[in-house]
Amino acid sequence: MAKRIYFDHSATTPLDPRVALAMQPANEELFGNPSSLHSEGRQAKEFLQQARARVAALLNADANEIIFTASGTEADNLALLGVFHAGHQPGHMITSSIEHPAITAACGFLEKCGVSVTYLPVDEQGLIAPADLQQAFRADTRLVSIMSANNVVGTIQPIAELARITHERGVLFHTDAVQSTGKVPLDVRRVAVDMVSMSAHKLHGPKGVGALWVRKGVQLRPVIFGGGQERGLRSATENVAGIVGFGKAAQLAFEQMPEEAARLVHLRERILSGLQESLPQTYLIGHPYKRLPGHLCLAFAGQEGEAIKLLLALDEAGVAVSSGSACSAHRASEPSPVLLAMGFDPIRARGTLRVTLGRFNTAHEVDRFLQILPQAVNLLRPVASYAGLARV
Ligand code: PLP
Repeated sequence: MAKRIYFDHSATTPLDPRVALAMQPANEELFGNPSSLHSEGRQAKEFLQQARARVAALLNADANEIIFTASGTEADNLALLGVFHAGHQPGHMITSSIEHPAITAACGFLEKCGVSVTYLPVDEQGLIAPADLQQAFRADTRLVSIMSANNVVGTIQPIAELARITHERGVLFHTDAVQSTGKVPLDVRRVAVDMVSMSAHKLHGPKGVGALWVRKGVQLRPVIFGGGQERGLRSATENVAGIVGFGKAAQLAFEQMPEEAARLVHLRERILSGLQESLPQTYLIGHPYKRLPGHLCLAFAGQEGEAIKLLLALDEAGVAVSSGSACSAHRASEPSPVLLAMGFDPIRARGTLRVTLGRFNTAHEVDRFLQILPQAVNLLRPVASYAGLARV
């Protein structure tokens, strides 16, 4: 039987074997608690510090500005709730209308606590206009949070410009960089960001480990209370093995970033041009080139209502892709809020295929996919009222 093809790296990535190897000692013989004073504890603490330096290097940051968390979601929550003291301080924040639920749900909570939130619109490629941000500030604006790259459509935001505008107003800037970390460079010494969220499992590291980079001097309150680990911002005994894995994954991603990005862009473009040749109804959603290197969000004119069927047919044929965000799999038949915000009508907002490539994908897999996908699409029934149309 042919090996399955995994093209869903925006949902999660397979653990790199070198990461698994690096995690082994921390899982087995070196199991100490980093807060303990004995040798086992000190050894675990050294592991943590090495991982902290490696994750910081991805951002050209200082190691002591990294706060390890249990996920990208937790890092996002810490950034937002931490600034507004879990809703106990009033004020206004600005975010976008295409953020991940880790941001939008935290915003929803803050709104219930009395914080006012402005959701910036995006254009049909998923881009935020800097002029819209300029106009959204109020006297009581305390935070801007804009994702670096979108998980559904792959569009990369002009973070440097948005952060510069924000700093000119003396307001804090947070970016959810969960999708872009290790794929697209972000140098926090050159870009005016104050907080950056990351997650290990999106860069061939383990699940259940994230980090928030917090620029020195930024005042945050914790959302978890206890023993005071991670400079008091994230109490709990650290997930040492997971953090070691995150460090190794960060190191590998950092070393290979330019070459790997070029390789993935090449494979991505090969898929797009191959499909547009065999299936002229194929169209790309999101920005044509301001997008994550291995990310394609595709739709097929006239068959937008059939994305779930297509996904299941591909799964049967041995290919794993997504119909949007894995985080919304339990609401798979609902239109994507991201696509609705980009101006798609509800039928088209249901009909995308997300194909996201990663480190272990090959040109051979791409060629197999280019044979399998057209067969699956051609078996689908066209959505009559939309046949022949592109998008609104
Ligand atoms: N932010 C974005 C943009 C994401 O894509 C995800 C996960 O898909 C998250 C946050 C949440 O990260 P985690 O799965 O580590 O909680």
